[in-house]
Amino acid sequence: MKLSIIGAGYVGLVSGACFAEVGHDVACVDVDQNKVDRVNRGQTPIHEDGLEALLRRHVGTRLRATRDLAAAVRASEMTFIAVGTPFDGKRIDLGYVRQAARDVGAALRDLGRYHVVVVKSTVVPGTTDDVVRPLLEEASGGRAGVDFGVGMNPEFLTEGVAVRDFMEPDRIVIGGMDERTIAALARAYAPFRNVPTFGTNNKTAEMIKYASNAVLATLISFSNEVGNLCARLGGVDVVEVMQGVHLARYFTTTLADGARVTAPITSFLDAGCGFGGSCLPKDVKALVAHGEAAGQPMPLLDTVIQINLKQPQRVIEMLERSFATLRGLKVSILGLAFKPDTDDMRESPAIPIAAELLARGAVVSAYDPVAREAAKRVMPADRIRFVDTLDQALDGADAAVLVTRWEEFNRVPDLLARMPDAPLFVDGRRMLDKRRIARYAGIGLSE
Ligand code: NAD
Repeated sequence: MKLSIIGAGYVGLVSGACFAEVGHDVACVDVDQNKVDRVNRGQTPIHEDGLEALLRRHVGTRLRATRDLAAAVRASEMTFIAVGTPFDGKRIDLGYVRQAARDVGAALRDLGRYHVVVVKSTVVPGTTDDVVRPLLEEASGGRAGVDFGVGMNPEFLTEGVAVRDFMEPDRIVIGGMDERTIAALARAYAPFRNVPTFGTNNKTAEMIKYASNAVLATLISFSNEVGNLCARLGGVDVVEVMQGVHLARYFTTTLADGARVTAPITSFLDAGCGFGGSCLPKDVKALVAHGEAAGQPMPLLDTVIQINLKQPQRVIEMLERSFATLRGLKVSILGLAFKPDTDDMRESPAIPIAAELLARGAVVSAYDPVAREAAKRVMPADRIRFVDTLDQALDGADAAVLVTRWEEFNRVPDLLARMPDAPLFVDGRRMLDKRRIARYAGIGLSE
């Protein structure tokens, strides 16, 4: 099929490259000329495992990037809208989605053949039918259901493993205003075999995405709340508590051959310094605001957010318990990205942690194997010393705070053991074995 994708960010570009990989002809549209040029040179503007290989394989044949939205849409059978949907502090900001819908609608004017427009961005329930569809009708002069179909296909990829997630999805949710739209989307996904495919209406598809993210956020804040109590009580470590919880048969199943398999969901049932990223925080906030506006407050999810906002502060409290003052204290932040294997800094807990350390007069260094340049754009780069290696980060520090579970940090216990004057190690993710580090503090553990 011939596809166009509006927005060549994490979702749009990964989707475009993967659709090309399975045989579709794809045009990725972005307003950012720099991104377009990079993609057309076969270079990825984001750090995502396997993406560059896909670009190199398909750019110039089945995949291209362009700024010419109208030409891309008119040459395709189906258009995905994959632009950003940030939270504006009060509610979801649909500005990019509206603009994309208007532009796509204008491109469809007098096309003379049926087209399908699919919202892939995460949007609050009702957006596709009540916002996007009327804009498309107005701008195109055509009628939804006759001249074009309108669908909603939420994306569940996880940054860091986005290509793998897209190529081997756990589910494909296909929302559509009618059977024709759903059938067209099913054709686009036909190359992904043996994947549960769920056809539904647009509003349900939108809600499935929010419910999926909200449950993960809830589990994380739940684990953090349990961890905070463990730290307060003393004599109980949240890591052991959660190991015991994970052993329940709904989290760890015994297969017919006796092998025990732990469900991946358990990775959300661990305490840490809070969730970040481009999705969980903004999506839960948007859903809470949407519920409020609809006359249905969501106190549970509201609290999930409140717990998360305070969680980075725990790291500061641990430092305060160990040092008389943070003024002049040399603190190294290990890991800046909101999670490993990505350079995405959006809503990373490293941002409030660094800000609080600076506010209290600490001398802050930071190390991240991948996200350094992205971090410089969103952190006060003139006040933070960004170092090149893990060894440099530890060298001379009074304290080191682990914020991201980068694989490389498994070297930390050995490095610290060799240092005569090792810094206090504050494990914001409970990644490392506390028994291997002499001066260890961690979330959910009292010293
Ligand atoms: P992003 O910011 O990385 O990418 C959005 C892109 O759209 C940018 O490159 C921007 O330049 C471009 N753009 C904006 N307006 C445009 C227009 N009118 N025409 C052409 N291009 C335009 O965002 P993202 O992380 O890819 O997220 C996109 C959507 O997918 C959001 O709704 C997000 O919630 C959702 N989502 C994201 C993830 C994720 O892990 N990042 C996962 C699932 C769903």
